[in-house]
Amino acid sequence: MSKPRIHILALGGTIATRPDATGAMQMGLGADDLVAAVPLLSTVAEIGAETVSRVGSHSLGFEHLHALAAKIRGIDADGVVVTQGTDTLEETSFLLDLLLDLDIPVVVTAAMRNPSLTSADGPGNLLAAVRVAADPWVRKHARALGVVVAMLDEVYAAADVLKVHPTRLNAFASPQTGPLAALPEDRVVPLSLPVRDAMNATHARLGKVPGGAGLPIALLWMSIDEPGRLIEAMIAAPDHLGYRGAVIGAMGGGHTPERATDTLIRLAAAMPTVVSPRAGGGPLLEKTYGGPSSEIALRQAGLIWGGRLHPLKARVLLETCLRAGLDRKAMTELFAAWN
Ligand code: ASP
Repeated sequence: MSKPRIHILALGGTIATRPDATGAMQMGLGADDLVAAVPLLSTVAEIGAETVSRVGSHSLGFEHLHALAAKIRGIDADGVVVTQGTDTLEETSFLLDLLLDLDIPVVVTAAMRNPSLTSADGPGNLLAAVRVAADPWVRKHARALGVVVAMLDEVYAAADVLKVHPTRLNAFASPQTGPLAALPEDRVVPLSLPVRDAMNATHARLGKVPGGAGLPIALLWMSIDEPGRLIEAMIAAPDHLGYRGAVIGAMGGGHTPERATDTLIRLAAAMPTVVSPRAGGGPLLEKTYGGPSSEIALRQAGLIWGGRLHPLKARVLLETCLRAGLDRKAMTELFAAWN
């Protein structure tokens, strides 16, 4: 039986670094280098490899991901693997999931330990990602799975995966839902399929999303006794400093410090402002608490209720809604699908 054709697209990141003369790790390796380091890949799939960029994921822009999505749409293969840095993987994989609705697997992977270290995880993660993309269960359920992330022998849904540690090997997790599959030995063991109702509703609503440079979206984390002065400055500044929308990392089930609440309500009048849980995801409350900075008051005041998405993912979704030209009502309805 012929092996599945898996196309690897390399963006950069720790997985693609090499040491310079001082020993500091610099971007440098391309897709061919990554493939050459893992001879077992050819036993799993027929491999195609392409270097898209040599950029750290902390420096990627929305425009890079839109161009990548367009490239993936045009690839003739049975599955696609994207290698990149870990820093923004929770955002990039979700954006790819918003932009792609394909019936072939798209698997994103990366590395925490660089190639110069003992027990670097890049080669193992690349092999695992290709195994996932080539796996019959994954291929059968590719559309139901959406874009997935393979790290340290687990597979995660793009809407849920988070980077939960800056340095350790097991830096990725889906705290809300757990992994979709595990990779013991040389097998992919299916564990669950993600609930995709909100993503499917989002795809239907977004339609074809134009590419191009990212729109500035402010991410504003609420914390104890926050006075909201930077937000005041943003509201008062000409053109609101260029910001087109804002995401509030709200406390608990959707609360903000009372002293900043009037400011936030004025911000929501100035630009679409999405409330999202700073606790890292999970459904927000809608109708439990009263008082001026409660979820009931904030919803009535016109803040968009962000639902279960982590603020980083809510920000990606808001940017995508804005570039798709959705009005405030459509955005509010779309975000409600995620609660
Ligand atoms: N800064 C790197 C990046 O995201 C870190 C990594 O790959 O782990 O590209």
